[in-house]
Amino acid sequence: MEELNGSFQGSGALPLHTVKHLYLHVPLCVRKCSYCAFASQVYSASEEKAFLHALEIELSCLKTFLLKPETIFIGGGTPSCLSKTGLEKLMHLLNPFCHSGLKEFSVEINPGSLDHEKARIFYENGINRVSMGVQSLNDRILRQLGRIHSAQQALHTFSLLREVGFKNINLDVIFSVPGQSLDVFEATLADILGLKSEHLSCYELTYEEGTPLTRWAQETNFKADELLSCQMYDCLLNKALEAGFSHYEISNFSRPRKECLHNIAYWRGKEYYGAGPSACSLLKGVRYTHSPSLAFYCQSMEAEDNFHQNLKWNDWQEDVLSPLARAGEIAAIGLRMTRGWRFDEFYERTGYRLHDHWAEAMQKLCSRGEGEFFEGGFRLTSRGLRFADLAAEEFILLCV
Ligand code: SF4
Repeated sequence: MEELNGSFQGSGALPLHTVKHLYLHVPLCVRKCSYCAFASQVYSASEEKAFLHALEIELSCLKTFLLKPETIFIGGGTPSCLSKTGLEKLMHLLNPFCHSGLKEFSVEINPGSLDHEKARIFYENGINRVSMGVQSLNDRILRQLGRIHSAQQALHTFSLLREVGFKNINLDVIFSVPGQSLDVFEATLADILGLKSEHLSCYELTYEEGTPLTRWAQETNFKADELLSCQMYDCLLNKALEAGFSHYEISNFSRPRKECLHNIAYWRGKEYYGAGPSACSLLKGVRYTHSPSLAFYCQSMEAEDNFHQNLKWNDWQEDVLSPLARAGEIAAIGLRMTRGWRFDEFYERTGYRLHDHWAEAMQKLCSRGEGEFFEGGFRLTSRGLRFADLAAEEFILLCV
């Protein structure tokens, strides 16, 4: 059973040797997209150098804990916007974490910043899963989103990845973009499905605070068309299933045995370590988050001695939840998966029983047609998945 009521604060024993999932955040992009609130800044050679130097310190501290991950995910930002020398260095830094038990080694790429040589660097260094941010195959929508690539470039990059040898490719798509009709979305979806990737992630556009898109929506009093969004989501479900994908998480579809193991670890509440600015780690029920500021992150890594003394980074922000609150969070995140929770699996993971603490929440969701019991467990219905954030509140609010 996972120990949710333990914390390693002051215990002097970072439980890193048991961590099975490593995330690495590359905080640079060629240009900021109009909707993006991720921690990333515009690429410069000097920032790449500073970032890789700081990351080298973090990863060399980490490797002394003999961390042998089952999954590594290089995300961002845009990992593929690093220079070729930068990418070679990055892969070299990750080498000590690659071992025979590493099942999945993913990288996110942007079709506007990947060429043949960079794809080969990833392939030759053991990357076995590529996640490509396509977002749309309509040039007008791509421009509106502020993407740096065209539809043609995305198609070309997909062929290039296949030529290099990648056999596990995810395509990221966004729907419900202002001005996007159902026909335009359907056309993108048909072209995307025609590529026969192994995995598909399709997200509804969200309006995050402080982005140019959100400012535009506020200034023009734009309201998203909820009915159209529901039609697009229904169309996505139908077409993806028809194309042979299985739907395993609200926004994620895969071919058999091609589910993203790294993301599944998050959704099942497993421990992970995140390196790089803004990256989160979840260790013994405590969430530690690096500063989103590249400069502050770099300074913190320079104070390496401090880490050895306190077993914590200076820029880490700690978020300590009570074990019950953490279990509520795990319940909510896990329900994003179509398989929901088996009662015994949830107990095994958290030490709490869903029926003891969330019986009312589950009943409420059933009465709204958003949840259902199955033999030995509970899951969201397709209506519940569409409104999963509201369902999550039922589990999380209880524990505040
Ligand atoms: S490429 Fe990705 S991380 Fe970079 S600005 Fe665009 S959406 Fe954000």
